[in-house]
Amino acid sequence: MNVISTIAQLREVVLHAKKQQQTIGLVPTMGYLHDGHLTLAANARQENELVVMSIFVNPTQFGPNEDFESYPRDLARDTKLAQSAGVDIIFAPSVEEMYPHDGGIRIRAGRQAELLCGASRPGHFDGVLQVVAKLFHLVQPDRAYFGQKDAQQVAIIQTMVRDYNFPVELRIVPVVREEDGLAKSSRNIYLSPLDRSQAPAIQQALQLAKRELQETQDVKKALALATKLIEKNTDGKIDYLAILAYPDLTEVTPETEQILLAAAVYIGTTRLIDNVIFSLKGEIAHV
Ligand code: AMP
Repeated sequence: MNVISTIAQLREVVLHAKKQQQTIGLVPTMGYLHDGHLTLAANARQENELVVMSIFVNPTQFGPNEDFESYPRDLARDTKLAQSAGVDIIFAPSVEEMYPHDGGIRIRAGRQAELLCGASRPGHFDGVLQVVAKLFHLVQPDRAYFGQKDAQQVAIIQTMVRDYNFPVELRIVPVVREEDGLAKSSRNIYLSPLDRSQAPAIQQALQLAKRELQETQDVKKALALATKLIEKNTDGKIDYLAILAYPDLTEVTPETEQILLAAAVYIGTTRLIDNVIFSLKGEIAHV
């Protein structure tokens, strides 16, 4: 496995792979890898001849009062883990390497970014699309791997790929969880032992709301039950709890095929997100 940090090196790798007619799988991450990231990488390994993982804490997707500076970083640890998952190339550029100029040109996420995480984190998805578009141009992947953990991100990237004809197949990987149901996240290391013991309530609340919705189709009641469970079992503060049609992120109607039940909750000072996607027919829907 090679760890590279410049765009020039990356271009050479990609050019060589294209000459050899190798398929390329891209796994974009911000590092501090866990089993969620490694599952994305393992899927990429199965389906492509060359697997490129980017590790880049992208400043343009963080707000001024967010955790860009303190976001966990450990490239040595990540390198070992990525190697064990079969990654061929880690691309870990500096901020200056990725953004040497600011010509003021921005990609703006549309209507799907106005709610959920987009409402609490203004500009977040514009930054995500900026870095993802750049990575797609640089790596020219046949397939790119994203986690359903960030369901809104997936929906918005799908829209960008569709609307701007990026020649890439998006592969979406289900949420990887701890044994008690907590979604794996690099930010889980911020949790105190008390926070950690409360955090699984988020997934429990989503499952409770899902069952309610399947039984009664009553969106309000499902949300109320989930809210109550979180309030009872955590000291956390709910940022949002929402039930929407997926991937449009519009209101649920009787015609809705896939339902997104999504939550963002501050447990202590850590903002955790989680979701479930399902159809009212009872099967878990595929994203
Ligand atoms: P991040 O490093 O948090 O930006 O995540 C990089 C990629 O890994 C994104 O596509 C995430 O959706 C995905 N990811 C993060 N956590 C998980 C998880 N628990 N299960 C599945 N995918 C995940």
